[in-house]
Amino acid sequence: MKKKVYFKTFGCRTNLYDSQVMMSSLKEYDITQDESEADVIVVNSCTVTNGADTNVRSYIGHVEKNGSAKIFLTGCGAHTKGEKLLEENRVHGVFGQSEKEKIDLLLAEEKPFYNPGDLNHIDETVVDDFIGKSRAFIKIQEGCNFRCSYCIIPFVRGDARSMSEDKIIEQISRLALNGFGEFILTGTNVGSYGQGQDTSVAKLMKRISQVRGVRRIRLGSVEPIQITDEFKEILDEPWLEKHLHIALQHTSPTMLKLMNRRNVYKQDKELFELLHEKGFAIGTDFITGHPGESEELWLEAMKNAKDLPITHLHAFTYSKRDGTPSATMKAEVNGKVAKQRLHELEALINNKNFEFRKAFKGSLEVLIESQKDGLYYGHDQHFNKILVESDDDLVGDWITVSNYEVRGDSNYAKL
Ligand code: SF4
Repeated sequence: MKKKVYFKTFGCRTNLYDSQVMMSSLKEYDITQDESEADVIVVNSCTVTNGADTNVRSYIGHVEKNGSAKIFLTGCGAHTKGEKLLEENRVHGVFGQSEKEKIDLLLAEEKPFYNPGDLNHIDETVVDDFIGKSRAFIKIQEGCNFRCSYCIIPFVRGDARSMSEDKIIEQISRLALNGFGEFILTGTNVGSYGQGQDTSVAKLMKRISQVRGVRRIRLGSVEPIQITDEFKEILDEPWLEKHLHIALQHTSPTMLKLMNRRNVYKQDKELFELLHEKGFAIGTDFITGHPGESEELWLEAMKNAKDLPITHLHAFTYSKRDGTPSATMKAEVNGKVAKQRLHELEALINNKNFEFRKAFKGSLEVLIESQKDGLYYGHDQHFNKILVESDDDLVGDWITVSNYEVRGDSNYAKL
């Protein structure tokens, strides 16, 4: 009888993809979605913030308390917390993301091990399915050449490198044959896809749109400077979602410099206004409380944020990461103040999202992703959530919704 493996995935969509690669590479073990019956648990970790590290540690504590499964750690946390967790005998083995395709061998290791792997590795595996999902996350690149002063990612994911275009097309063709119609292109710095090669994220998306069965392409987080003239040519394409996530991280010019960001507020504003005019919903990343964020700079940042047509927010309070330039910066901001600023910003963007949904007069193109308590959940072309009440099983279906109610944090429709 084969042993059972449970995969616990933390963090970003790239980790979701990496877990799918491990599941697809597993031959000598069975996958279980039920943690309590697992003989082995693989923790695919995140280390982007202190909070991420704490979540991973407390999950390992939960497993230790509730069972006897053998624990293996991988993901970005393998590079920052792995050795310590191994020394403390809290995990049996630690391996870097590059080793994941050798999952059968790694899980069979008798002796405890630490194998950080190669930070320049490029995956070869093509996955056929996305277990438990109705849309597919496709990792197109890995690593980042930017050096934002607060960020640990380049040190745990390596420098930017791109998957081969042919392999990505093969990947999407296989998943489209298996019924997937929505593809989310993901990576560490997606917009740097094709750097140093004769391709780009815009070229790749055009090619993907030609694959039979591809209905909608979504893009992970891109940097403002990566929305090039070439990229602007695809903005009106029907297969591109009417939403883009463009990472600003801050809206105070002084803070952007301190954070060693490559974007400039004036150009960000011009870009966001162009996208808004074209009907795009726009998401962004933001860090509050980075060292140097005085009350004066915060007021400037909020005034600038009010002037931007942002509809979605992915924001954190600053988290000191050992080994980053920001970790040695003075003028630290009190944690409570950082949290308060985060809530202020969230309230502003929630209201902008509500106003955006109220102002939109067209129909919503929705892929129903899941069902809970008799209600169906999905996202429309603007990446806004919608709840649908229906007697039919809609999971995996594409529906066009013209008659719906705009509610506080999502839209609602009864079919
Ligand atoms: S662009 Fe900056 S924030 Fe994003 S992964 Fe790279 S270094 Fe980190």
